Amino acid sequence: MRDSGGDQRREDVLAHQIETRDEAFTPYRLPFPIDAMPEIVLENIAGDDERMWVPQTEHVSMRPLCLSVSGGYWVNLLRVRRSGILTRHRHPGPVHAFVLKGRWRYLEHSWVAEEGSYAFEAPGETHTLIVPEDVAEMITLFHVTGALIYCDPDGRQTGYDDVFTKIDMCRRHFESIGLGGDYVKQFIR
Ligand code: FE
Repeated sequence: MRDSGGDQRREDVLAHQIETRDEAFTPYRLPFPIDAMPEIVLENIAGDDERMWVPQTEHVSMRPLCLSVSGGYWVNLLRVRRSGILTRHRHPGPVHAFVLKGRWRYLEHSWVAEEGSYAFEAPGETHTLIVPEDVAEMITLFHVTGALIYCDPDGRQTGYDDVFTKIDMCRRHFESIGLGGDYVKQFIR
């Protein structure tokens, strides 16, 4: 005798699986919050479009990715060439670093950030970044909250950078190469 109840159950299971799968692949249908800001999507960020690199010193450049005026942080690529040094500074906020290319270290720590490494730097950290002589180029993604407070070896403040000085720096650069100062706005959230 045919088990019609069993057939029905198998059909129900199959229908449920199809429904579940279809729902899993269905995009969210509702609008995003009206106050949410648009995403930033940048292609080939470590590529060779030199115009995107904002010079800081002769051997140090930054490429802006996200400049958050509402969050008080910025995400950028830092590129250092020819055994450059980044001036000693204190961080009142956290830093996340991901090394894309090359290698660097801090004068204040024994560890070395190698290509592929991630580092978290806690608030209160004061350090001086140097790129060893055998590294022709290093590129690291830094997510910096707050500021870099530049100081002498005894902690006396000599200057600072925050998201606003970074924006100014980018704006001047884009202006100077003919892209216009407003080019920086695409990175600001
Ligand atoms: Fe730092």
